[in-house]
Amino acid sequence: MHRCDMTQIFKFGGASLRDADDIRHLGHLMADFPGRPLVVVLSAMGKTTNALEALLDAARGNDEANYRERLENLRRDHLAIVGALFGSKASPVAQRVEALIAELDQHHRTLAKHARPFHYDQTIGFGELMSTTIVSAWLEASGIATRWQDARRLIVTDDCYQAANVDWAATTERLRELAWDDCRLLVTQGFLGGTQDGQTTTLGRGGSDYSAAILAHCLEAERVTMWKDVPGLFNADPRRFDNATQLEHISYAETIELAWHGAKVIHPKSLAPLQRKRIPLTVRSFKAPRTPGSTIDADPRHDGDVPIVILREAQILLTLYPRDFALMDEAHQHDILGHLVRVGVHASMIDSAAMRVSLCLDRPTGRLEALVEALSADYRVVRRNNLTLLTVRHPDDGLLEGLSAGRDCLAERRNADTAQRLFPGDQCPESWHLPT
Ligand code: ADP
Ligand code: ASP
Ligand code: MG
Repeated sequence: MHRCDMTQIFKFGGASLRDADDIRHLGHLMADFPGRPLVVVLSAMGKTTNALEALLDAARGNDEANYRERLENLRRDHLAIVGALFGSKASPVAQRVEALIAELDQHHRTLAKHARPFHYDQTIGFGELMSTTIVSAWLEASGIATRWQDARRLIVTDDCYQAANVDWAATTERLRELAWDDCRLLVTQGFLGGTQDGQTTTLGRGGSDYSAAILAHCLEAERVTMWKDVPGLFNADPRRFDNATQLEHISYAETIELAWHGAKVIHPKSLAPLQRKRIPLTVRSFKAPRTPGSTIDADPRHDGDVPIVILREAQILLTLYPRDFALMDEAHQHDILGHLVRVGVHASMIDSAAMRVSLCLDRPTGRLEALVEALSADYRVVRRNNLTLLTVRHPDDGLLEGLSAGRDCLAERRNADTAQRLFPGDQCPESWHLPT
């Protein structure tokens, strides 16, 4: 079967989909785009994925009362949304949600003895399974012909649990096999994939953006639209900077930098699949769908028009001094980076000197403790917690100095187009202002 021409991908994230009113609003928004074959990619609603992570910890910690309460909260919250949407006709959808909750419970009962990454991936995507079940039923009930599609059978990955790698050829093949003849709207889960032998995998937190890009790439879509709780991409997080300005246009390359340095608005892996097929991406406001949003494509002409500021909070600084007082030559640096790779920890900044390497890392996890232990054999490790990393793309000195004023700079790195400075978190405000 051939898909209809001009496939568009819409992606709606948890920040936009929090309650029944948001799902109703999504239905209205979809009704404004008739006559086009669309694939809709959905995240879990609101903060469901965080709740599922806490449920997983309770299951693995044998904390039965906590586990029961958390599972019941998930069940109750989703059923309340179903009740608010469908009223007296809620029963078939409610039954499907109940079945998913029972399946989730069953997985936790049987998987607690398995390695955590595997257990994680078999359970954490139930937020997406529930949101897509509810939304596809709602769209169908609103008169939009819809088909629920299981992303675990569409996006083929390896078995690198929690950060699965896509098998592009196999995914393209699976999408070709889809029946597109009736041009129904496909509603599928972000964040999820599956191995060739049918195990569920996840693409990393925030990975629904990446799912939309994978599907667009493999379908050679005309455009991807990500509907967000902000009107578009800004030159700083508009929730933290009271005078951030919206970027009308930005290139793939610049957006990758922005995402890589920690701007949460878009998953860093989601740009390359679009860039390779030159598929434009629009980031638009879910709440004000008629406003133009920000366009991302190959055109770099507006990059650098304004500096871009990115905050990365709750950082840890590890400063390493060789115990044998050797110089920090390539062999030592290779050794240190090897430890990061083995433990699977990402450094948001690396700054080196003759007898020191400083690593700035995301907040502590079990993996961080393992890293410190491994490094301590050959290096004296000095650790500082609760730091804020400020990254400025295309910095001008006035802006950088203005943002640094009154704060102790604990580490710094600069190249031709990017400056990074690390400050104690308690010297950084909740609400910032870009100096002009
Ligand atoms: P979704 O659930 O739709 O994926 P996210 O919460 O992951 O949404 O991303 C949207 C959030 O990204 C916004 O609420 C905003 O606070 C944050 N954000 C960070 N940096 C930027 C930026 N430069 N421009 C716009 N939003 C940003
Ligand atoms: N629900 C997943 C998460 O919260 C994926 C996503 O939202 O993009 O990380
Ligand atoms: Mg997101």
